[in-house]
Amino acid sequence: MTWRTEKEIRRRLDAEQGTIIKDWGGKLPVALIYPNSYKIGMSNLGIQAIYRFINEQPDVVCERVFWEPKDSTDVLPLAMESQRPLTDFAVMAFSLSYELDYFNVVPILKASGIPLYAKDRDETYPLLIAGGPCITTNPMPLAPFFDCCCIGEAEAILPEMLPVLKAGASENRAELKQKLMKLPGVYVPGFSQQPAVRQWVKDLDKFPVHSTVLTRDTELGNMYLVEVERGCNWGCKFCLVSNCYKPVRFRSVESLLDQAENGLKYRKRLGLMGPAVTDHPRIEELAGKLHDMGAELSVSSLRIKPLSPIVLGEVIESGTNTVALAPEAGSQRLRDIIGKRINEDDILKAVEKVAAQGIKQLKLYFMIGLPEETDEDIESIALLVTKCKDIFDQHQSWSRITLTIAPFVPKAGTPFQQEGMAGLEILKHRLSLLKSKLTARGISVKNESLEWSEVQAVLSRGDERLAAVLANVERLSLAQWHRAIEKAGLDIDFFAHQKWDTKLNSQ
Ligand code: SF4
Repeated sequence: MTWRTEKEIRRRLDAEQGTIIKDWGGKLPVALIYPNSYKIGMSNLGIQAIYRFINEQPDVVCERVFWEPKDSTDVLPLAMESQRPLTDFAVMAFSLSYELDYFNVVPILKASGIPLYAKDRDETYPLLIAGGPCITTNPMPLAPFFDCCCIGEAEAILPEMLPVLKAGASENRAELKQKLMKLPGVYVPGFSQQPAVRQWVKDLDKFPVHSTVLTRDTELGNMYLVEVERGCNWGCKFCLVSNCYKPVRFRSVESLLDQAENGLKYRKRLGLMGPAVTDHPRIEELAGKLHDMGAELSVSSLRIKPLSPIVLGEVIESGTNTVALAPEAGSQRLRDIIGKRINEDDILKAVEKVAAQGIKQLKLYFMIGLPEETDEDIESIALLVTKCKDIFDQHQSWSRITLTIAPFVPKAGTPFQQEGMAGLEILKHRLSLLKSKLTARGISVKNESLEWSEVQAVLSRGDERLAAVLANVERLSLAQWHRAIEKAGLDIDFFAHQKWDTKLNSQ
């Protein structure tokens, strides 16, 4: 049943600029798979960068594959560029940025007629590679499905890996794996004796990262995206980004201006991407020069400290009417525990700066269920938000503050990886406590699903036994997940909620 996807793909290709179409003759064909929808995948700068990087190699052709979660296994996944099925490719490279995308790996393989487990595949099937931040920090839940896992940044691993794949794609699979396991940053399940050492790019300027394929058919379709930095110096203890992309590295202003000049040919608005963009040591100079070039600016993350008035002014002048800030915790005690190196004065000053610029809508991000949290810490969130609302009310006749609440999820590879996630009952209680304090002031509180956050925690800290669970989820639902966990004889409480005092993955 491929006609629907082919038609949809052609419609999408017609709406794209920058698609790379290469002749396959004599080249290694690589399917780059983002196991989620086209709309989400095309906003992912990592996918865009790897797609361009691989296609720059003369003897390799790389095509994109997406998976619409509404699709069932009777829809054959096809590559965007050639509309070929995945079994035509020598290599299938999955990029995994979110734990919940793990659920889409199994249906992609099933729909393509590819055996799930690496041990059941020989060289007549494509070689399956996994990469991305989730794989870098803990490849184990998916490891039984993959022939090899990339630990670290693609640009640091692929230059050595691609020639080995090109030479050995059709040779005996075990022999190829023996060669792959000797490469830096490559973990080969069942072959490697020890974890691979994470690889990272020393000089980001050698590998510009910006939008490659532009389309309006995606979340950030009105922007040309440019990566400003990688990693983050602030070291919040729950944060995957800061720990997975160490050390922090900034691109030079000169390289960023070059990329911007090209981007402005396609879009008036530039999206400056990075975990803490305003930390760039020359951010004000960059913002000023981009302004002079006529760019409208959007910044993926505005930090509470430092919050440059110049950058804030540029973002607002470009038409933004909502600013988002992330205090994460309400009390100083808890902010100190999680390593968020800001105080209440910093937060209120930042809110004052935003309100003074005429912004009417403020989004605030907080976490609940943090280690050592009590009900008093929730009351501190309410108090802090009320102070923010008072500041806004002094400046505007009308203003809106929205809170987005995420439960703390212990992530592998972070300083908090051994902390337990709070129980769902505690989280529900704290959420309703917070809502009861704030709704009276007209402040709306949205929250991420507590139940799916628990699933994330299990997958983030899980081991290879989770592969059987993923293989047994036929149609994604919490009921199916719980049934599959039970069938595998695993304990959600252990993986998600218990505080571990030994190293990761030892039950
Ligand atoms: S400031 Fe943001 S990106 Fe940086 S470590 Fe903290 S949470 Fe992570």
